[in-house]
Amino acid sequence: MMNDYIRLSAPHPMSNDWYGAKLEDIELAVRGSAIQSIPSIAAFIPMAVLIASRMGRNLRIDGCIDGALLTKLNYEYAPFVSRFYDGHCVSISASEIGHGPVPRRQRSALMFSAGIDSFYSLHLLTRIGMKPDAFLNIHAGAHDDNLETWSVRLANVRSVGDELGISVETIETNFHRVYSEAHVRCHTFRNLAAAMAASDIGILYYSAAHEVSELSFAAAKLHGLDFIDPAIIRSFLSAEFEAIYLGWDADRIARTNVVSRMPIAFKHLDICTNQNYQALRRPENPINCGECRKCIRTLVALDVAGALDDFAHAFDIGCWRRTKGEAIRKLAMSEHPIDLSAVNLARSAEATGTASLGRDFPSGPRR
Ligand SMILES: [Zn+2]
Repeated sequence: MMNDYIRLSAPHPMSNDWYGAKLEDIELAVRGSAIQSIPSIAAFIPMAVLIASRMGRNLRIDGCIDGALLTKLNYEYAPFVSRFYDGHCVSISASEIGHGPVPRRQRSALMFSAGIDSFYSLHLLTRIGMKPDAFLNIHAGAHDDNLETWSVRLANVRSVGDELGISVETIETNFHRVYSEAHVRCHTFRNLAAAMAASDIGILYYSAAHEVSELSFAAAKLHGLDFIDPAIIRSFLSAEFEAIYLGWDADRIARTNVVSRMPIAFKHLDICTNQNYQALRRPENPINCGECRKCIRTLVALDVAGALDDFAHAFDIGCWRRTKGEAIRKLAMSEHPIDLSAVNLARSAEATGTASLGRDFPSGPRR
């Protein structure tokens, strides 16, 4: 058929430092300090495949892409996208196929948000004598498009970078606007596609959200893409860019334990998902709301680790001590495996006398 495909055009500069690539009448766009020149078209392909799959169309790329990438896109990425989102399995073609070695860009970056997984990855790198050339912080939908919240969080990331002598690079995208989907169901694609747009970053250290035995396609469909992302991150990356996955060795509680002993995290740990709190927060307020599910499960792990007092800048510890029984009871209503493992931790700490987490939470969380 003549029109069964949509075209992704070569990237071009736009106004206000944005760079775009057109997918018919949809403009995919990126900008930021990490992007100094027109990005490779490879950076726009992951989102183009998602959009084409939803539209039931195939994809024609106006440009040269490496043969290995074309093969991965057709036989790894497109089938995954089709099955994960129950959409069309996109066939991808290009106007020119490149062969031969592709030089990798030289700088490395750790994708860094100052959350538990970020700090744990920093610990893993430091432990083997590695230091990323930069922290990369990406806005691709994680902040509900609230740029004010992003700038507050970015200031915190920059403080960590200043203390460690690591520069902070940023990338902003419109990927969440042109492909509307819960961020948790597509963050891996949005973030790594954005990272591929960086001009000289060739190695991205990407934080695992789960211990390796927790990985599962079914859990990913139910709870979020992070349950399967190590199996898919290489399926759409170009040869000039590699993502290295850190943290298969520890679940969230084990990671929180390690982070609870990192002085750099005491002042800067930022895990809160309460956008309202973040938007209205004054500098003298704790970094985290202390009330959302992510805050509560982190507070449970810090409490059991005996590290609460060290995190008085990150959380309202007095409030937690007064309300934790009720907070854990609420967390036990969650279906999310990480929430439930925190409830289990609270239960066993209470039972063994390791920590007192308050008594009015149920004796057995739902499974
Ligand atoms: Zn919170």
